[in-house]
Amino acid sequence: MKSRTQREQELLNSGLVDSIKELFQNTNANIPEKYYLLIADYIDSIGQLDFEGGLYLDPINVARMLPNLLNTISEENLGGIHGKTDGNKITMNSTLDYETNKLYFFHEITHALQTRYVNNQEECSFYNGKTGMFLTEGATQYTAEILYHLSNETNLQYREQPNTVRGHAEHTPYSPLSEYQLNGSILMLLSGSLGVPINQLLALGFRKDGRQLKRNV
Ligand SMILES: [Zn+2]
Repeated sequence: MKSRTQREQELLNSGLVDSIKELFQNTNANIPEKYYLLIADYIDSIGQLDFEGGLYLDPINVARMLPNLLNTISEENLGGIHGKTDGNKITMNSTLDYETNKLYFFHEITHALQTRYVNNQEECSFYNGKTGMFLTEGATQYTAEILYHLSNETNLQYREQPNTVRGHAEHTPYSPLSEYQLNGSILMLLSGSLGVPINQLLALGFRKDGRQLKRNV
């Protein structure tokens, strides 16, 4: 596993952290240094996925979207919640250790990139303001974990995960995720039954026309 220091040094030396800051330069964004590094980490991890086998995303395009979608990142004690995204503001739980914070920041930044408001209604490719929240969380966590493990040079480990579905001890999801294991398993099922690779399904979440494209598959 790559250490935090190693990874941060790599991102600083590549100039990516400075490039990310430049994108936010003319905005009144309120983003602590630690999170500029984590944003750079997320973008660089997208770039490490090769296009075809990966998320079909151009990391530069994703980075350019950010200043319009993200304005404030802060930390406070959120009790049992890891993090939350409200409009262009991400709040992370101040009590998390570095690695947990990193994984769930990747989760929240994925929400920030994928969720938009259409007629005052929250919408993304898996969610229309009323339905689909279940798939949204599975897809968001999958995306976050793929990128987190790439960044740390560790592997997603598929495993049986008993007692992870609240109230249903008889269900044992087989999943690589740390959370939302059942949501992730349903997404895998969807991917298998539609014959669409999981990465391609996840990529739809980043596209404005993702709902339409998903309908067409
Ligand atoms: Zn979420």
